[in-house]
Amino acid sequence: MKVGFIGLGIMGKPMAKNLVNAGYSLVVHDIVEAAVNELTSMGAEKASSPAEVTRSTEIIITMLPNSPHVKTVALGKNGIIEAAEKGKILVDMSSIAPAVSKEVAEALSAKGMEMLDAPVSGGEPKAIDGTIAIMVGGKEPVFEKVKPLLMVMGGSAVLVGDIGSGNVTKLANQIIVALNIAAMSEAMVLAQKSGVDPEKVYQAIRGGLAGSTVLDAKVPLVLDGNFKPGFRIELHIKDLMNALDTAHEVGVPIPLSSQVMEIMQALKVDGKQKDDHGGIIQFYEKLAHVEVRKQ
Ligand code: NAD
Repeated sequence: MKVGFIGLGIMGKPMAKNLVNAGYSLVVHDIVEAAVNELTSMGAEKASSPAEVTRSTEIIITMLPNSPHVKTVALGKNGIIEAAEKGKILVDMSSIAPAVSKEVAEALSAKGMEMLDAPVSGGEPKAIDGTIAIMVGGKEPVFEKVKPLLMVMGGSAVLVGDIGSGNVTKLANQIIVALNIAAMSEAMVLAQKSGVDPEKVYQAIRGGLAGSTVLDAKVPLVLDGNFKPGFRIELHIKDLMNALDTAHEVGVPIPLSSQVMEIMQALKVDGKQKDDHGGIIQFYEKLAHVEVRKQ
């Protein structure tokens, strides 16, 4: 089966490579030539636009930064919609506003094309290993058709509900991750400034109730002062913005998310928006005049 892949960034590139390695023939597109060349050197075909990708494939995967990028690629000039027809499926794995997933799905369905929103969690290491968690919105028969493909890229793929549900789930995920990183940061800065070795604090608490995937993924990086992304703060700002908009639309106050949002805005003003979101700790470090590092 020929599969289209649009958006070969930090996440999309390893996901596309896993599909090639599993034997799928891929038609790829990105506005960054170097990423495309890496895939063509592995045997993928290149296409010059999303419409060209769609013409020669049945399932098209997109992995783009945010809602406007997905709208442009799907519905813009030379977009997927120009080659949309019955039998084709768009699987948008980007993290975007649930309302935009619904809007794009509606426009494509007018041409007979199906869509799933299927955002992911796990970051670059899990994208490389093929073990990301995939949360899906859409129709069950469409999900069943695409599931083998998703399971090449992911360790799990769960159909949560109708179109848009995947991205609602992802917003919930991003709230939990952001608040966890902020909690880890407050706690580790407190330990460091109190004169207690933060590495030992981490070792002492990781097996208890405070232990978490976030703690295990981020504390070792913080201790090395390594804020190389990974998942950029600017992308997490985008997700919390989508969470706030969606929460306000449905009538849910999310006060803690808005606080972490402001922390991330302060880091952006400080020029740290391209750092990994583990770099949220730098906000607390600056306030407390201390750095949480290996001793
Ligand atoms: P990225 O910025 O590294 O990659 C996005 C890619 O899309 C880039 O290669 C860019 O050139 C391409 N692109 C942008 N506009 C385009 C267009 N009009 N046509 C073709 N290509 C276009 O981002 P990423 O980190 O790979 O994240 C992608 C999505 O996955 C985001 O929604 C992000 O929130 C989500 N996500 C990221 C991570 C992570 O750890 N990085 C984890 C989970 C989910």
